[in-house]
Amino acid sequence: MRINDCTTLERDGGIAIITVDSPPVNSLSVAVRKGVAEAMMQAAGDSAVAAVVLICGGRTFFAGADITEFGKPVIEPDLRALQQIVEDMPKPVIAAIHGAALGGGLELALVAHGRIAVPSAQCGLPEVRLGLMPGAGGTQRLPRVVGAARALEMMTSGDPISAAEAARLGLLDRIADEGALRDEAVAFARAVAADGAPLARIRDRPLVVEQGLFDAFREANGRKFRGLMAPESIIRSVEQGIALPFPQALENERALFCALLEGAQSAALRHVFFAQRQAAKVDAISADTPIRPIIRVGVVGAGTMGGGIAMNFANVGLPVTIVETRQEALDRGLRIIRRNYENSAKKGKLTAEQVAQRMACLTGSLALEDLADCDLVIEAVFEQLDVKQELFRRLDLIAKPSAIVATNTSYLDIDRIAEVTGRPENVLGLHFFSPANVMRLLEIVKAAKTDLSVLATAVALAKKIGKIGVVVGNCYGFVGNRMLAARHAQAEAVVTEGALPWDVDRVIRDFGFAMGPFEMRDLVGLDVGWNRATSSGATVREMLNEMGRHGQKTGGGYYDYDEKRQPTPSPIAEQAVLDFSERHGGQRRIVSDEEIRDRVLLAMVNEGAKILDEGIAQRSSDIDLVWINGYGWPAYRGGPMYWADTVGLPVIRDKLKALHATHGEVFRLSPLIERLVAQGKDFASL
Ligand code: NAD
Repeated sequence: MRINDCTTLERDGGIAIITVDSPPVNSLSVAVRKGVAEAMMQAAGDSAVAAVVLICGGRTFFAGADITEFGKPVIEPDLRALQQIVEDMPKPVIAAIHGAALGGGLELALVAHGRIAVPSAQCGLPEVRLGLMPGAGGTQRLPRVVGAARALEMMTSGDPISAAEAARLGLLDRIADEGALRDEAVAFARAVAADGAPLARIRDRPLVVEQGLFDAFREANGRKFRGLMAPESIIRSVEQGIALPFPQALENERALFCALLEGAQSAALRHVFFAQRQAAKVDAISADTPIRPIIRVGVVGAGTMGGGIAMNFANVGLPVTIVETRQEALDRGLRIIRRNYENSAKKGKLTAEQVAQRMACLTGSLALEDLADCDLVIEAVFEQLDVKQELFRRLDLIAKPSAIVATNTSYLDIDRIAEVTGRPENVLGLHFFSPANVMRLLEIVKAAKTDLSVLATAVALAKKIGKIGVVVGNCYGFVGNRMLAARHAQAEAVVTEGALPWDVDRVIRDFGFAMGPFEMRDLVGLDVGWNRATSSGATVREMLNEMGRHGQKTGGGYYDYDEKRQPTPSPIAEQAVLDFSERHGGQRRIVSDEEIRDRVLLAMVNEGAKILDEGIAQRSSDIDLVWINGYGWPAYRGGPMYWADTVGLPVIRDKLKALHATHGEVFRLSPLIERLVAQGKDFASL
């Protein structure tokens, strides 16, 4: 019997089967909630029904709330009302899970009286990723099943667990054969009904918590949770729930949930979520833009970047040939890759077999000719235009005509690289971030002549290797490094005027970055892009490099590092700053934290606005993604452009104008900001 557009109710003997089919992921929309509530009521009133199976069609069990309903008035029944109906059913309800039971989906399964899933299913409460927490009993019911410690881990990480683990933890009662979920769920329901025991409700179970758990958990995760509100709300909900009767504990959870939902962090994280969906939509690329098959990949250069880039493809089973100039460099590159995989295996993230499979995808070579049959070649050699041009000339002769040839350059003009080939339409930038096997960002740089099918192929490939691909235009530093340069210029300027590097780092860390600009430089290496031959003490960085202080790898840069790589401000660096100031900055003054923050962050926003205005980025949220995924901008602040919108563009405009008056041209206001303010609009409106 059809209950509504997405819900049916059938009978198999004494078992009622409620099936929901609401593509794409059976999110718990109004229609779904209404359908299930109505079907439950009918099954409850039907004396021929002994038990109920709740199952989904399509590719998954309920994969969460309908996020498009957020912020709108709730239409009854809300999820909690539906849960009440299910939990209070006079007959057992069995949740039959395939795909994923996530968020509200798992919370709904937790009010059923039994749970069965196929081996490929996953269960999780990922709300924290949107700056939220479970708001429909998850923080109260999950700990009663898997224990408070494991529940805290699951809810604060948001990571789902496999069916096997869920069964081990008691979250699932049974595992069904992959193709037989419905039949086995019906059999399970029949067995529970026949048993006639009182209905097992999770809420009736005791919540046992080991002494000192909450403080220990906070302590252990202090770094990870820094600045974030949702994890603390989750911990608090479980902790406070212990002393409360169950219904009050649910109300308490709800209040904590609502505070997060209305808060700035969740709004920012939802923006990021939608930004990611948007990024894959590129103007000019349509569903019928052809995508080229990428079967074999070549990487030139097995240094810091080349090795990590190659791993991305080996991870998805694509064969990769890595070419170096010297055997020693090649061996070293391959050794580092193997070590990375083995470290993952030690942490239990890969099996020994997977390590072997991935290594088997990689072939080293000293001959560029070995790239002749590659569909994609990515160059990651030294950052010098002449070196890259020479390489592209040779590649052009070797690579098959249809092959895409990409450069991983950080700053160079990709048109200048493309023009030395006979196939500029097949050239683009694929700008990975270090470590390239870990960082999720990939800037896909469209050069003047890049063919749309090449761009579309790169976008599809980014998705395949698990990257967040953002299409950007060709200019100095593209989106990320261009804004980074603007940030560095201000970081250095405030230090010349009177602040110290650690002041700047502290302010930026307090804003939510994991590290400040100078700490980041020490980590990357002060000598990246530095040339000994032309170095003349023209910046503090050059002075430090000339002293052999290249950052963490040499034990010191702006900071000194102990064996555990713990930093302390370096007196040598401080002296260098003072000497440099004396020569170039005039009288040092006190630079307030507010000024540091404004100058560093507003310089970025202004540059971002220019990038948008020039069409280098397609939308402001793409810039946000670049900075969140490539440079550690705190996701809960939504990215630099989103953050500027939340501050208010009129405020940003006024501050930039004031900075322009005191600090000159670098702060010349982006005409885009001026226009938007005049129109009463913000970046998000574009
Ligand atoms: P690297 O010095 O670690 O590695 C470069 C490797 O290329 C060396 O092993 C070298 O032997 C090899 N090589 C040089 N010329 C070659 C040739 N003709 N054929 C084959 N191999 C050759 O440098 P890296 O840090 O890996 O940087 C590589 C590129 O990636 C640069 O363009 C850089 O700007 C860019 N990049 C670097 C980072 C980073 O953080 N390191 C991030 C993004 C992009």
